[in-house]
Amino acid sequence: MIRNSPAAHAIRLLGDRWSFLVIRDAFLGRTRFDDFVHTTGAPRSTLTKRLNALTERGVLARQPYQAHPPRDDYVLTPMGEDLYDFAVSVWHWEITHGPKTAGTTVPDRLRHRLCGQAFDPVTVCLDCGAPVLPREVAYRVEAEQIADADAALNDGSPQRRSRPPGPGQVPGDPSMLQAAELIGDQWTPLLVSALLLGIRRYDEFQKELKAATNILADRLRLLVEAGVVRRIAYQDHPVRYEYRLTRKGRDLYPVIMALHRWGERWLVPDAAVGLHHHCTDTPLATATVCSYCRHPLKRGDVTFKVSVPVR
Ligand SMILES: [Zn+2]
Ligand SMILES: [Zn+2]
Repeated sequence: MIRNSPAAHAIRLLGDRWSFLVIRDAFLGRTRFDDFVHTTGAPRSTLTKRLNALTERGVLARQPYQAHPPRDDYVLTPMGEDLYDFAVSVWHWEITHGPKTAGTTVPDRLRHRLCGQAFDPVTVCLDCGAPVLPREVAYRVEAEQIADADAALNDGSPQRRSRPPGPGQVPGDPSMLQAAELIGDQWTPLLVSALLLGIRRYDEFQKELKAATNILADRLRLLVEAGVVRRIAYQDHPVRYEYRLTRKGRDLYPVIMALHRWGERWLVPDAAVGLHHHCTDTPLATATVCSYCRHPLKRGDVTFKVSVPVR
């Protein structure tokens, strides 16, 4: 089940617009509360809650930098640092597909230091070395496992969120609105995961995701509006539609795969849901690599420029 997959666990942990933006900005070198306020546009009280939650969950750690009054830097822990593939994939997607806006805090170009090239992040299979294409990956339920995903998604847990605000409704950096809306939400990335696995029809989404109909309809509409998904009529009387990812949607694959990997490593090492590449019968193991030299992307090896400097 997609909703019990490692990626789904990762999405539930990070699945919030503000947490998502905090992670992005932490990788751009930001550590201070006021910097996060400035770059994410989050209300201060909301940001406090998100920083506390990310700290409790082990993604960030506090480091005091001032005693009177007490002030902390928020720095990525090893668990947080391990989201680097995710951050790079999101930046790249934004550079490729996001709105082109001046004054952005998102890097405007990524270059790989090892080969000197402006690269694409590519997800490769560690068994056969080939780039992993969505259609070559199957998922299997390895064992019956009752993860209480429904409760986490549907109850009043702090990570639950209503429909994200539209462009223009959120202060701060406009450049990441699309990615934050698409990924900083619990349902849309699960829908994208389902689409990547070849699920196309409304009743199949319902069966897989167990989403309420209004949530499902709302998120599908959002994905169509964002140009991530297109709707195609497959039946006339009555008219019925199926949904397919556009190029922009398929390009979210490295983002979802990075979340899947991170979820496997840190949240559900014994996940009942496994991905399998067509090359082997063992569970799929992947890495995000540079499209030119095929070396795994490491934080110190990727250079970028940002228009809004770190203080
Ligand atoms: Zn393979
Ligand atoms: Zn390279």
